[in-house]
Amino acid sequence: MPTLNLMVLVCLAYVALLFIVAFAADRLAATGRSTWLRSPLIYTLSLSIYCTAWTFYGAVGYAARSGLEYVTIYLGPTLVMVGWWWGLRKLVRVGRSQRVTSIADLISSRYGKSNLLAICVTVLAVVGITPYIALQLQSITLSFSIFFEEGTAGGYNDASVVFWVAAGLAVFAILFGTRNLDANERHHGVVTAIALEAVVKLIALLGVGIFVVWGLSGGVSETMARIDASPIGQWQMNGSRWATITFLAMAAFVCLPRMFQVMVVENDDERHLRTASWAFPTYLLLISLFVVPIAVVGLEVMPKGSNPDMFVLTVPLSQGQEALAMLSFLGGFSSATSMVIVAAMALSTMVSNHVVMPIWLSSQSDRASVSGDVRHVILLSRRVSIAAIMALGYFYFRLSGGGAALASIGLISFAGIAQILPALVGGLYWRGATRSGALAGLTVGFGLWLYTLLLPGLGGGLMPDWVLQDGPFGLSWLRPHALFGIEGLDPIVHSVVWSMSLNVAAFCAASLLSFPSPLERLQGAQFVNVFDHSSGPRGWTGSVAQSEDLMIMSQRILGAREAQELFQREAALQGGRGHLPEPTPLFLERLERELGGSVGAAAAHAMIGQIVGGSSVSVEDLLAVADESAQLMEYSGQLEVKSTELARTAKKLREANEKLTQISLQKDDFLSQISHELRTPMTSIRAFSEILRDTDELSMPEQNRYATIIHDEALRLTRLLNDLLDLSVMENGQVTLNMRDGSLSDVLDRAVSAVLAGAEGSLVVRRRRGSEEVQVRSDLDRLAQVFINLIANAQKYCDAPQPELTISVHDVGGQVVVDFIDNGSGVPEQAQSTVFEKFFRVNAEKAGGAGLGLAISREIMLRLGGDLIYQQGQSGGAFRVTLPLAGQEAAL
Ligand code: ADP
Repeated sequence: MPTLNLMVLVCLAYVALLFIVAFAADRLAATGRSTWLRSPLIYTLSLSIYCTAWTFYGAVGYAARSGLEYVTIYLGPTLVMVGWWWGLRKLVRVGRSQRVTSIADLISSRYGKSNLLAICVTVLAVVGITPYIALQLQSITLSFSIFFEEGTAGGYNDASVVFWVAAGLAVFAILFGTRNLDANERHHGVVTAIALEAVVKLIALLGVGIFVVWGLSGGVSETMARIDASPIGQWQMNGSRWATITFLAMAAFVCLPRMFQVMVVENDDERHLRTASWAFPTYLLLISLFVVPIAVVGLEVMPKGSNPDMFVLTVPLSQGQEALAMLSFLGGFSSATSMVIVAAMALSTMVSNHVVMPIWLSSQSDRASVSGDVRHVILLSRRVSIAAIMALGYFYFRLSGGGAALASIGLISFAGIAQILPALVGGLYWRGATRSGALAGLTVGFGLWLYTLLLPGLGGGLMPDWVLQDGPFGLSWLRPHALFGIEGLDPIVHSVVWSMSLNVAAFCAASLLSFPSPLERLQGAQFVNVFDHSSGPRGWTGSVAQSEDLMIMSQRILGAREAQELFQREAALQGGRGHLPEPTPLFLERLERELGGSVGAAAAHAMIGQIVGGSSVSVEDLLAVADESAQLMEYSGQLEVKSTELARTAKKLREANEKLTQISLQKDDFLSQISHELRTPMTSIRAFSEILRDTDELSMPEQNRYATIIHDEALRLTRLLNDLLDLSVMENGQVTLNMRDGSLSDVLDRAVSAVLAGAEGSLVVRRRRGSEEVQVRSDLDRLAQVFINLIANAQKYCDAPQPELTISVHDVGGQVVVDFIDNGSGVPEQAQSTVFEKFFRVNAEKAGGAGLGLAISREIMLRLGGDLIYQQGQSGGAFRVTLPLAGQEAAL
């Protein structure tokens, strides 16, 4: 009889072996020599985590208690694998193309990346799976205790064994399940260790079966006779239970987080499913082959009242087959540990990604972009989640006290997980399914399952007896086991029928009534039509031909030389001879990073995905690409605006420059004219004053004449300087105008008499007094100055024999117009446009002034809000003054 200490040693040795296998597999995968690790055989074996301790030990117990009903547990997955493998293929394809990390991620991704949905699924999974983990821990304890009861060692303690087992499994899951974050990279170590465990438990069960049939019963026919004789062989079937449990097993096979983990997340190649579709049912057939014989023989050979759940272990022990019992123990241990490890990994991913990380990120909103930081936190949160889930299982085991028949917790758990099925299948096949629908279905199903199955089933006073018997608040139609008064159903059937049908109804109704968001619509299309979007089963690996395409693309983005250097470096690293590297996942990853530096991560991912073709471009990728190109477009738009601005500024500068050049030319012109104008009187003043000074014998009249000339020239000079000063003050806008109301005829009177005083007869001035009675608001002195200048010009330049000037006043368009028209020959046509320029004179010899009068007059009129122009088409000199009426303020 093996002692407990020996058992513990064997267990430790076995766990050490698992560690070595997992470690070696990870090493092999890391060095790229892992082809056999990715074989369909390993994939099929890893699916065997479906068979937990519940099936290893429990199936025999189940058969001993309920006959052939245990077959349903194997029938479900077999039906799915054989009858729905194309559906599984779709699931795997979607999982790969969307790079999902868990079933919660898949559901949330399908319904518009809703984290609320992910949290719902996570909570449902944690609530549903924790009792299941506790169940595995219990089975290990139970199997240990068998050896204790019959062994001699003392001091056996349930709780401490479970604690160390749980701790050990947590360490294993943390070590091999959280090595990397990338959902695309597989956990080769864990999967390989699980495959090994699958082999151990199959061999163990087959070993016990063979011993029972040939060792104890004496052959196949004898065994068949025994089965026929026992009540198990009576083939009693409860139709509704069969159908329900088969359905539950089918649903659980697809929806259990750990199954999803090995089937979808860890899947390397879609084609493995094809192999698994016959290989896995075969595995199930083999593992269930000897269940009935063991149960029948166990019932016969074991004393009354012994636990049928432990027959697999106790039958060989009772027959003194210690080695076989040891093997059987290891088989059960394998079943329990593999399930716990993968379940903890899958659940921790969900908890960490959908609960812990969102909370952490929202609390760190400003530091979230530090990627190294985040990576570290994700790993930590996954590790903590694994530990927390194991702790939950452990405490659940301690609190519930164990004891309940293994199978019942398993079925309760299955029924909970099955609530995900409508949202999952609906999401894969029905584009109209919406997030609200999924939420409604999940909540209704989860609530009913809690109320009708989990709470009543867990015991421990979670649901008081009186609620079970009379319903809450005395409402008998709300009794958990007889909703709406439907009685007499098996609790499992009752719960599954109600929760699933109302789940589906709520899912469909809410989907039909709600409108999906654009992202939901896009994701829906991606899921339902996944085979149109993704090309093949390959992942980020491609052929050398694709290397060329990658090269061409990289050259476009990185530049020819850089791309060639990169590719050559990679080819050298891979040890190849050519200049093109193999498109290994490692290389593709590096290339993606390199390209990401130039075009953005999302675009790089999408581009490589397009060429390598393994994973379809996800909506997220497309949106991210669109974002990036929108940013680029905005940036180039900004550049365009800037460049037109620059062009406009340059044009303005050019214009300003031209103006400055012009002004500078004008200034030179002006200065030369001024110096000329000044020099003439100065020359005569100097000349005559020198004569006066140097010549002694000048006659009196001569002296007088010279002095007069000097005086006149000085006056001219003064007038010129005054005019210049006046003009410059006016042009600089420094003039102060003294605006007042007055009669136009008064101003004209003043001007005419000022010019003609002492020179009557030199010019006849004709006026129409009637029209002159106009009130104007203006600087009347300045206005008179303009009139004086015009009248004086007519006096000076009118060359008619009898000079006449006609002054007429009109009202034109609300403005006062004063015309000064004489009967001389006027200003020649080619000079009319320049007559207002400074220093302009038509005939310099004839002119009396410096050519500033009209320039000053025009400047004055502009300042007064009016104008002064030369009128074409008149017979003589014709000037027109325009000025605003009184009441219309000058625009100053
Ligand atoms: P100034 O102050 O030297 O008189 P203006 O600017 O008043 O100069 O006049 C410029 C030129 O316009 C004069 O030299 C003259 O040739 C011409 N001009 C002005 N008024 C008349 C007119 N009524 N008839 C003919 N020519 C005129």
